[in-house]
Amino acid sequence: KQVVLKEYVAAGFPKESHFGVTTAAINLKVPDGSNAVAFKNLFLSCDPYMRSRLSPPVHRDGADETDPEFSPFRIGAPISGLGVSKVVDSGHPDYKKGDLVWGGTAWEEYSIIENPKGLFKIPDPSVPLSYYTGILGMPGMTAYFGFYDICAPKKGEYVFVSAASGAVGQLVGQFAKLAGCYVVGSAGTNEKVELLKNKFGFDEAFNYKEVDDLDAALKRCFPEGIDIYFENVGGKTLDAVLLNMRVHGRISACGMISQYNLEQPEGVHNLMTIVYKRVRIEGFVVTDYFPRYAEFLGKMLPWIKEGKIVYVEDFAEGLENGPAALLGLFSGRNVGKQVVAVARQ
Ligand code: NDP
Repeated sequence: KQVVLKEYVAAGFPKESHFGVTTAAINLKVPDGSNAVAFKNLFLSCDPYMRSRLSPPVHRDGADETDPEFSPFRIGAPISGLGVSKVVDSGHPDYKKGDLVWGGTAWEEYSIIENPKGLFKIPDPSVPLSYYTGILGMPGMTAYFGFYDICAPKKGEYVFVSAASGAVGQLVGQFAKLAGCYVVGSAGTNEKVELLKNKFGFDEAFNYKEVDDLDAALKRCFPEGIDIYFENVGGKTLDAVLLNMRVHGRISACGMISQYNLEQPEGVHNLMTIVYKRVRIEGFVVTDYFPRYAEFLGKMLPWIKEGKIVYVEDFAEGLENGPAALLGLFSGRNVGKQVVAVARQ
């Protein structure tokens, strides 16, 4: 079974009708003498960046068009992303039957890959394997390096996180507490706001959909201003945050999901704040940090095992429910990290 792209999304929100689920026969026995590996795909990661790959192939400023991980999907072919897989047969010296890996994965039940590259061996299967799509995978590294490296937090600083209950945001909030900061999160439902306060330990949280005046809401939460903003949504939120930044504040520009389905990005009006408050805004792409995976794991695995960091996941069961799960990221349907469970083992 595969999830294929039927049609590019020229503008606006993608719909389930852009995708199809097809079946094809596959021979899982790798030919003798080949360096191919046959994988059973267990968990697939739904990630906001995948929206850009649904757009037709045109030049986009700043995007590396040569990188197949970020180039548009091909019509009629399975879409791909990150996931957790198990080796079921291998002709490759680095992989043997039963090995567990995470990395680039097609949205299909089984894959055969010639000479696989860039996959991470799963070092510790005693934690839930789905964690390698989230807290122990790409979103975990995004939160970790995007917060610690880009923001250099100090004890007592004031931190704001948007899309705070999601795959990345829930971790940033917990890291901020570990660093001794005061942290506030925004999210799109009251259920998520409860999670932020009662599960992830945010000091304060609000539902941005129920707030008429974001600037006033931020002033209530941060009477002394914001030292660190972890930017996940962009648009009106960024504009309101800019009005509330403190001198020498830092903004980690991680993503701007509110803009991904717009034909024209919204304008940002309060940029002068950057000058007179000496604010540093720094973007980053997590793949630059992949060589530091071992360092990241060295921190995260103990934190998970000691109960210092918790993680909430949202499972869609079965490949056929994958498209709806992916699209749900753009309406806020997911509560926590959105995963597609293709097979549990
Ligand atoms: P999430 O798990 O947080 O899912 C996306 C969430 O975004 C939704 O649940 C929804 O939550 C919120 N959202 C959707 N549309 C809007 C909107 N119009 N306005 C405000 N919020 C919206 O996703 P991730 O944690 O995986 O990703 C968070 C951000 O991090 C994204 O911007 C993503 O692109 C970025 N990212 C960047 C990386 C990098 O290398 N720079 C790597 C990975 C992620 P709610 O109900 O709260 O609205």
